[in-house]
Amino acid sequence: MKRILMIGTGGTIASDITPEGLVPELNTEQLLAAVPRIGEMCRVDCIQLYALDSTNLRPEHWLGIARAVRAHYADYDGFVISHGTDTMAYTAAALSYLIQDCPKPIVLTGAQKPIWFDSTDSKRNLTDAFLYACRGGGGVQIVFNGKVILGTRARKTYSKSFQAFSSVNYPDLAVIQDEHLLQYLTCSAGAAPVFYDALETNVGLLKLIPGTDRALLDFMLDRYAGLVIESFGVGGLPEYNDLYESLRSGVERGRLIVMTTQVPNEGSDLTVYHVGVRLKSTLRLLEAYDMTTEAAVCKLMWLMGQTRDFRAAEQLFYRPVAQDILYATET
Ligand code: ASP
Repeated sequence: MKRILMIGTGGTIASDITPEGLVPELNTEQLLAAVPRIGEMCRVDCIQLYALDSTNLRPEHWLGIARAVRAHYADYDGFVISHGTDTMAYTAAALSYLIQDCPKPIVLTGAQKPIWFDSTDSKRNLTDAFLYACRGGGGVQIVFNGKVILGTRARKTYSKSFQAFSSVNYPDLAVIQDEHLLQYLTCSAGAAPVFYDALETNVGLLKLIPGTDRALLDFMLDRYAGLVIESFGVGGLPEYNDLYESLRSGVERGRLIVMTTQVPNEGSDLTVYHVGVRLKSTLRLLEAYDMTTEAAVCKLMWLMGQTRDFRAAEQLFYRPVAQDILYATET
């Protein structure tokens, strides 16, 4: 029988009703007790790492989860991390950079409804997550509502319904129907994982709106060492309000900038319009292409944990990790 480690972090799946709203109060043993089928599939040990609404999770928690997997890696065949859905896509992306080339499955799951609700998705998601941890491909993945999504490609796209997650610019890896696993794709893995233990958390995200003030960009470039900018369409920077000057000065001061798009699908291409070409051809900045914003933010944190040098950052950013970026031509 396979040995699986379950790491509890909180979320709706483990929540109870309180006068102040849902709060994660159930521990991993209580979750497992609600789904006896899992005990027939594998041997499970549990760690209750956190009991948090994932809204309250921060990069230090991502590092804590990665440390827990590393500490117990040799003793288990796979890992299931129960987690709130709200920031699960960020955690999945962060873990994909902190634990690379992993041949064993590291599965994140959660639910839109607590496990003790009559109409809950918790039991199905937990059962599927354990099934995948026993039989699925290696690397960081989200198992949710019968779909298996690569950790670097996940985004929460529904706030209430069971189909909470989508795979962005990449196909689902597998589907699970009535405990049958149809594995379409797997992510390439090495013989052993490569663990990282540093993230630069001084990274910000600016979503442009029509009329964005230069003062906001200046503030973010003063405040943060790395900045992801979600622009419009295939990408570019508005030509009003001296935003270009602000960005140029930030780049000169050594800030690492990633340009991406707020359009959910198909990614950026700064070479199409003048508003993008001018940026790309005159400033040393990075482009996220088909990456999710969650992956772009986490990859910037990960690479800045290693370097501030633009050339080195460029190499790391454009080298695909767990299929996170496929359209880049730069090396
Ligand atoms: N607020 C919850 C969380 O992210 C939502 C959920 O788990 O579905 O922890």
